Amino acid sequence: MNKTIVTQVIPTIQGEGISVGTPVLLIRLGNCNLNCDFCDSKWANNLKITEVPQFDINNVSLPFILEEIDFENFIKYLKDNFLNKFEIRTILLTGGEPFLYKDFISKLVNYTDLKQITNIEIETNGTLLNNNDDYKMFNYCWGKIIQLNISPKLNPTYYKNEKIKDIKDIIEVFVSNEVKSLKTIIEKTPTEIIWKFVHSKEMEKDIINFIRSFNTMNHIYIMPLTPARANYTFEGNFISAFKTSCLETIDFCIKNGFTFSPREHIWLFNQTKRDEYIMGG
Ligand code: SF4
Repeated sequence: MNKTIVTQVIPTIQGEGISVGTPVLLIRLGNCNLNCDFCDSKWANNLKITEVPQFDINNVSLPFILEEIDFENFIKYLKDNFLNKFEIRTILLTGGEPFLYKDFISKLVNYTDLKQITNIEIETNGTLLNNNDDYKMFNYCWGKIIQLNISPKLNPTYYKNEKIKDIKDIIEVFVSNEVKSLKTIIEKTPTEIIWKFVHSKEMEKDIINFIRSFNTMNHIYIMPLTPARANYTFEGNFISAFKTSCLETIDFCIKNGFTFSPREHIWLFNQTKRDEYIMGG
């Protein structure tokens, strides 16, 4: 079993997709099975368990390994520091790739004494939803609405896998996941699936091909690519390049009837960890 590395816990807002603007308690889990060049949470990836300090309940510092504390203590930490202080009804699990930690997700979703939480959103690249039993993670939600925000990555070089050579191979991964996991999750549990694609001009054909390969795909959002920060010394130039990226994405959406999703966090919380931008804290 993977040990769960928690790298960030902050009250903030959802930055993109169908629930953009919603107050959320963002919980970021470290490490990812992919390696995207535009990743804005690379700082949270490639963490080695041995480098994560011992958890101290009296002096919580991040990152920490969840299995070093009782799950009850983790929930107490969330309540004492955030959920009892803010009017937040949604937990947003992000990463890295949260489904590296299926046991943790199952525990959180099935936890009974978390009444102030009505929604749990999970940001995922979708590749690890590949098992016939995945739906069991969402068996007992206790009235909570679970929303999977799946953002497939369409560039084969991100996959760290020699077998993934082109878009056809990526589509095959997701068609297989649809059969083994996604259909059952939708059929057997009160879970919503939202699809999000990062747009660039080079990716347009692949996005359309990918979407056409699925019959059951609803709720499709297209998001602008983040320009590589390293290329911009001045914030204004970065924002200007991001605006150009947004406008190109909007053109693509209008032409093809897709819904544009802003990415508010990219220009609001532009630095690496964004801890200094805790809303209301
Ligand atoms: S899948 Fe997401 S978290 Fe993982 S490397 Fe890509 S952008 Fe980063």
